[in-house]
Amino acid sequence: MSTTLFSKIINREIPATIVYEDDQCLAFRDINPQAPMHILVIPKKPIPKIVDAQAEDQALLGHLLLKAGEIATSEGYGDAFRLVVNNGAGAGQTVFHLHVHILGGRGFSWPPG
Ligand code: AMP
Repeated sequence: MSTTLFSKIINREIPATIVYEDDQCLAFRDINPQAPMHILVIPKKPIPKIVDAQAEDQALLGHLLLKAGEIATSEGYGDAFRLVVNNGAGAGQTVFHLHVHILGGRGFSWPPG
């Protein structure tokens, strides 16, 4: 799998504002925030897109969602936040290392743009 800038963040080759880390995932603030809270949760395993995840990744995917909720709560937005996973360039994915956006601190419309 190719190295992305998120792998470089995991390896501390480029800086990021890290808010959470464990053996399976890393969470850091988005460099171009789209809400007062905008954090990315990524697996340390370099899965490019959600469709590339395999059955063996089931627990890891659940871990990302569990941690996303815990992080949103710890940031003070546990009552209302949005999780987004863009899959593929046509859906807005620009970094091909799976990531869950955690957005909070403003209103969110539906359907999403
Ligand atoms: P996506 O468009 O879903 O692939 O999301 C990629 C996200 O990564 C965007 O929200 C970018 O602002 C964010 N991003 C890109 N480079 C960095 C970086 N060096 N540190 C933190 N966030 C970044």
